[in-house]
Amino acid sequence: VDLDRFKRINDTLGHTVGDNLIRSVAARLSHCVHRRGDRIDEFELARLSGDEFLIFLRHRQARREARVLAREIATELAAPFSSDGQELVLTASVGAAVYPDHGRDGESLLKAADVAVSMAKAEGRRTFRLYSRKMNARAMQRLSLENEIRLALENDHFQLYYQPKYRASDLKIIGAEALIRWFHPTRGEISPANFISVAEEGGQISDLTRWVVHQACRQVSQWQRSGLPVVPIAINLSPEDFLRDDPVAMVRSALSDARISADYLSLEITESALMRDTDRVKNLLDQLKQIGCALSIDDFGTGYSSLAYLRKFPLDMLKIDRSFVSDIATNEDAAAICSAIIAMGRALGLTVVAEGVETDQQLTRLQADGCDQFQGFMLSGAVPAELFMAQLMSQSPEGDAEAPVAPNVITLNPR
Ligand code: C2E
Ligand code: CA
Ligand code: CA
Repeated sequence: VDLDRFKRINDTLGHTVGDNLIRSVAARLSHCVHRRGDRIDEFELARLSGDEFLIFLRHRQARREARVLAREIATELAAPFSSDGQELVLTASVGAAVYPDHGRDGESLLKAADVAVSMAKAEGRRTFRLYSRKMNARAMQRLSLENEIRLALENDHFQLYYQPKYRASDLKIIGAEALIRWFHPTRGEISPANFISVAEEGGQISDLTRWVVHQACRQVSQWQRSGLPVVPIAINLSPEDFLRDDPVAMVRSALSDARISADYLSLEITESALMRDTDRVKNLLDQLKQIGCALSIDDFGTGYSSLAYLRKFPLDMLKIDRSFVSDIATNEDAAAICSAIIAMGRALGLTVVAEGVETDQQLTRLQADGCDQFQGFMLSGAVPAELFMAQLMSQSPEGDAEAPVAPNVITLNPR
């Protein structure tokens, strides 16, 4: 049994709070195990290390019993813990291994249970997994992915692509979002959806973010020096960047190395980043804002979407998650949510951006609702820097209402 993201509690609330919580968790686990005790021939509860607990049980139907126990543990932990008048919610990832199928001695059983726990974590935490041999292969893959991320950074195998952002009223490109691409020499293209979470967990995310921020700033500077038009570039920050690192120093150094103005940099942050350790995050965002970067909240509507933090944090933009946009033309509920987010965002003085616009119908609805900007495959996915620049230059110069960007002339092929 491994508590989810417990390190963060220690990091943010201090070790005393952490220690007390571990004690309370132990008491609840003990309660769970004892309650099942009459059905289990023999059991043992131990603390393995930090936030890891081990439950040993002897039972004829061990698999089923482990599953039942895991469910009870989840229920037991679901009630908030209170610490210094604060309510804290903890969840756990649970993995099990069964003798003799998964190991014939303590050590191999423990190792297998460990692999099952890491699979439970990889699948979103707060869940239970029974060991299977296939897991071993996947766990090894994850581990090797972490190492390969390091190598790829050293060997320059990452690239930054740019997805244009359009003004909804006239379809002019007014910015771009930088999206990382990994072209692996043997595995081919690996999607960020697959490796960002590995990097977050494995601790390589700060190096990745640093690379992205520097690369984007260098690109802007290069465009500027070549006398090309420049628009603001948005960068995705991971929640981990706020908790482990100093994103302010990172952004400052990238801007000053490239000698560009902060006006060209905007930062996208997900709701989950805002939710954790809000005072620290607010302080960092205030500083980023002070430097001159624009701030947007990404994937809005998918997390807790607390309306309070739309006021609390110094945000400029709100990006409606593409899951709402994709259903906007076919599902009245999704359409109503989009309209409401747009109205609310605008009323709060935020620029509202829709992501994942793929069809004319979607765009028409968004325009009617007063959405300010959009991105999406309808006009362009993320493309290499040169192609993005070609798209930017092919549109009419500022103030010229003729020659709007025609969707069908934009080709994704650089030549
Ligand atoms: P995101 O920030 O929500 O980025 C938008 C994703 O939607 C991108 O996927 C983009 O290619 C995709 N997309 C854009 N238009 C459309 C559309 O019309 N339809 C559909 N179905 N998809 C569309 P991508 O590049 O695979 O990135 C996935 C996620 O990975 C991003 O989601 C972001 O959370 C993360 N990511 C990508 N690059 C970076 C990065 O440099 N740093 C960090 N921290 N995260 C990144
Ligand atoms: Ca984004
Ligand atoms: Ca997004």
